[in-house]
Amino acid sequence: MHDTRGDRPGRPRGRLLVQKYGGSSLATAERIVSAAQRVAAARAQGHELVVVVSAMGDTTDELIQLARSVARQPDERELDHLLSTGEMVSATLLAMALADRGCPAVSLTAAQAGIRTTRVFTRARITGIQPERITRELDKGKVVVVTGFQGITEEMDVTTLGRGGSDTTAVALACALGAECCEIYTDVEGVYTADPRVEPAARPLDRISYEEMLELAQLGARVMHPRAVELGLLFGMPILVRSSFSDAPGTLITGGEEVEVRKHVRGVAHDMDVAKITLGGVPDRPGIAAAIFKPLADASINVDVIAQAASLEGITELSFTISRGDLPKALPMMKEVARQIGATALDTSDRLAKVSIVGTGMQSAPGYAARMFSALAQANINIDMISTSDIRITCVIDRERVEEAVRVLHRAFELDTD
Ligand code: ADP
Ligand code: ASP
Ligand code: MG
Repeated sequence: MHDTRGDRPGRPRGRLLVQKYGGSSLATAERIVSAAQRVAAARAQGHELVVVVSAMGDTTDELIQLARSVARQPDERELDHLLSTGEMVSATLLAMALADRGCPAVSLTAAQAGIRTTRVFTRARITGIQPERITRELDKGKVVVVTGFQGITEEMDVTTLGRGGSDTTAVALACALGAECCEIYTDVEGVYTADPRVEPAARPLDRISYEEMLELAQLGARVMHPRAVELGLLFGMPILVRSSFSDAPGTLITGGEEVEVRKHVRGVAHDMDVAKITLGGVPDRPGIAAAIFKPLADASINVDVIAQAASLEGITELSFTISRGDLPKALPMMKEVARQIGATALDTSDRLAKVSIVGTGMQSAPGYAARMFSALAQANINIDMISTSDIRITCVIDRERVEEAVRVLHRAFELDTD
């Protein structure tokens, strides 16, 4: 996305806030009304407001089920068009609720709001925002409610940004409009040291750096969409994650230097959305990895952990993980690649999950991997694959044991205490 900020002459600048409300925060008519009250309160404090909404409750899941009940593999263009209706329902209802409370408001679809994306259906990326319509409505004194999660291609086809993508709409708009902050309202009181639904001892963090949040989000902490954090980092946009059900202060996602690091490990993330593909009997020669991963990249399939076994008499085994939803697309591709490169076996498993520890402080102190592996070993949890970066360690383990692993690691790294 390019930077579309800049001075817009002629408009007395209020302090612009972008607020985003997630599905559970808009699940019922009562919750839509309570979101409207929160928006109206911020406006009464002198803010201009752009509000980004997700679909009500489980609407997106229900629409996906509906599509699957009429087609085995729904056409992705049609699916995106269908899913976009969920956010239209909540946007229009919120605008009505606001107007009813004396707060002038207008709802805009992604097309009306000028949110341009690539043509990759179900996982499009925002390429730019033409915010003129939004600024015109703000100039009229209106609260602008924008449908999250969706965009529009050059041909005016509707795209979606991937599950959880409303966060990205919100941060992208905050950056494009030069907002002072992007507030993400959700059903927990901020970013916790682990998913609070899995580890009851998890604590909300006051602050976290973009880098750490990006890792947590990519590793399965679905409280923030990874691309939203990436944009926040790129444009230096402060992101405040808060509850729409309480007045707790929430977690500020912000630049690294302001973040005081007390603990080297800041959080544990887990991800059930893991499928493993193993190619066996692979000839060990240059170009093989490229032959395997190029078609996946061309199909926008994200490859995560990769492990290659030591070569034995010129033959090796290569395993990698992808998202479970990508398996039906990836498998025929891998069958073809296996044939081309002369691999003798192709195997898949969807009984796995990932558990990760994350913290920027880890890069300056050794011993974290050993501590993680021995904590898992003591709990008799087997490690299938390992992957690391400067600020994280990920283990692929049995899906059935992953919640226990989260709790084991939370305790091992003393995340339940300050
Ligand atoms: P929304 O509909 O508001 O976008 P999501 O369901 O996408 O909400 O994200 C919020 C959920 O993320 C929480 O209910 C929680 O279970 C889950 N979650 C996972 N990891 C974390 C974490 N580290 N901190 C907070 N929430 C987390
Ligand atoms: N409604 C979409 C989803 O369920 C987008 C979002 O909630 O952010 O994935
Ligand atoms: Mg979400």
